[in-house]
Amino acid sequence: MNNSKNRPTSISLESYGITHANINYQLSPDDLHQITLERKMGREASSGALAVNTGEFTGRSPKDRFIVRDAITEDKVWWSDINIPFTPEKFDALYDKVIAYLNDKELYVRDCYACADHNYRMDIRVVNEYPWSNLFVYNMFIRPTQEELKDFDPEWTVINAPGFMADAKEDGTRQHNFAILNFTRKIALVGGTGYTGEIKKGIFSALNFILPVEKNTLPMHCSANVGKDGTTALFFGLSGTGKTTLSTDASRKLIGDDEHGWNNENAVFNFEGGCYAKVINLSKEKEPEIYGAIKKGAILENVIMDGNGVVDFADTTITQNTRVSYPLYHIENVQRPSIGKNPKNIFFLTADAFGVLPPISKLTPSQAAYHFISGYTAKVAGTEAGVVEPIPSFSACFGAPFMPLHPAKYAEMLSRKMQDSGVSVWLVNTGWTGGPYGVGTRMKLQYTRAMINAVLNGDLGLYSYDDYHIHSVFGVAQPRTCPGVPTDVLSPRTTWNDDKAYYTTAFKLTNAFRENFKKFEAYASEEIRRGGPQRYAF
Ligand code: ATP
Ligand code: MN
Repeated sequence: MNNSKNRPTSISLESYGITHANINYQLSPDDLHQITLERKMGREASSGALAVNTGEFTGRSPKDRFIVRDAITEDKVWWSDINIPFTPEKFDALYDKVIAYLNDKELYVRDCYACADHNYRMDIRVVNEYPWSNLFVYNMFIRPTQEELKDFDPEWTVINAPGFMADAKEDGTRQHNFAILNFTRKIALVGGTGYTGEIKKGIFSALNFILPVEKNTLPMHCSANVGKDGTTALFFGLSGTGKTTLSTDASRKLIGDDEHGWNNENAVFNFEGGCYAKVINLSKEKEPEIYGAIKKGAILENVIMDGNGVVDFADTTITQNTRVSYPLYHIENVQRPSIGKNPKNIFFLTADAFGVLPPISKLTPSQAAYHFISGYTAKVAGTEAGVVEPIPSFSACFGAPFMPLHPAKYAEMLSRKMQDSGVSVWLVNTGWTGGPYGVGTRMKLQYTRAMINAVLNGDLGLYSYDDYHIHSVFGVAQPRTCPGVPTDVLSPRTTWNDDKAYYTTAFKLTNAFRENFKKFEAYASEEIRRGGPQRYAF
């Protein structure tokens, strides 16, 4: 049945305790695609992409993400409900169980690396239970050349066993799934979940500890691209705010869509070798580059297809978080290698479901630091049938679940870098306009792109009071005009047609900002605190 048994295997996994599994090493993407189909673990979409279901989990599970508390991490990690401690003993025991589980399986193993800048390169070996997870690894990490593979000596290992279920009581986990980082053994152990994002975010989290602690380099949850003039732009933001969408722009070269480092040699480098885009409501017209990247080699996750393999991107039966992963080379206009100069512009993206933040505004250095520490976006949650209300969501550094150190550490580094590089920082609301969720509408992608392009082309210089207006609540500089955008869209209050409702809602949000910032007050200078909203509800 399984012809992969005949394929040559060229590595031993004995040092991991894997002594008798059948190892498929460094298979080509075509082979992995084929094996997935043969094993009936996926279907081929009409675009040629492989479509899989990730199983019980269709997103990350932050409550099941642990860090081993040991000599390396003890004093450095910011232990909290984000960075949950795990004992070395429990880790060793669970590791042995996972290895025993994998030992009689067909395994898919890949050597690859993270960090496009070779001074920071991290060599990784990933051991997957499923062939399509290994294709994800091919897509998302950097692919070594044959030459680079010759003396490949993996520093970190990812052990990925989606079919292994932990016994919470015995194993010390919360439930049957887990993602655990061990900095002493340099292992990311992922089990009980087939969601591929856990693999990529596991390595990201490891780098978010290693780079600042050992290499004085700032890791960032952001996308990046570079213009014809060679200037780099960064886009920070929480999930769904537009990092992937806005950085993928035919007129600019893509550096990367999610994870970057900013080093001390005035450069920004991608950690990854691929993109992981949301595909909910994807359309060829609005997002042609991402649409075009969905072809043979790409993996669609949790989408619904008809009998002919045609995907219905509007169908959220399985999840809202439908995704596609593809290697960077599926995008035409990419920067090679994935490195850019110091950024000239940084965008903080937020999907403000209250609809009160301006669609674009410029931040002072204090405001930039304040908003980076706050990491605001909004979620929309149903309360009772038919009633939906925005809920503010704050995630420090626009990526708290992946940041093992205290947020102040990353914020200090970013503030210093922003100062040294003289970068301009913009707050972009890709969320609602004309009212909150339920009343207003989502900002048109076309307008957001126009605002960003205006900044990048130098058409949004805010020089005098005629050019901008200081928002009376948030204190940010709101441009009065912008090429390609109707003027009234630029002022959220104007789009509401109800001043009282607008200010009441704006104060709701500023109160949430103030409440959230309390836990950082002890770490923030007077200057950073001044960067917060100017007015609050009484
Ligand atoms: P993640 O960290 O989970 O990868 P992300 O920041 O990369 O998230 P995107 O994948 O870019 O987020 O998702 C943004 C979603 O919002 C897309 O589905 C996009 O089509 C949609 N969208 C709608 N309006 C806008 C807008 N004005 N700007 C940006 N995205 C928009
Ligand atoms: Mn993304």
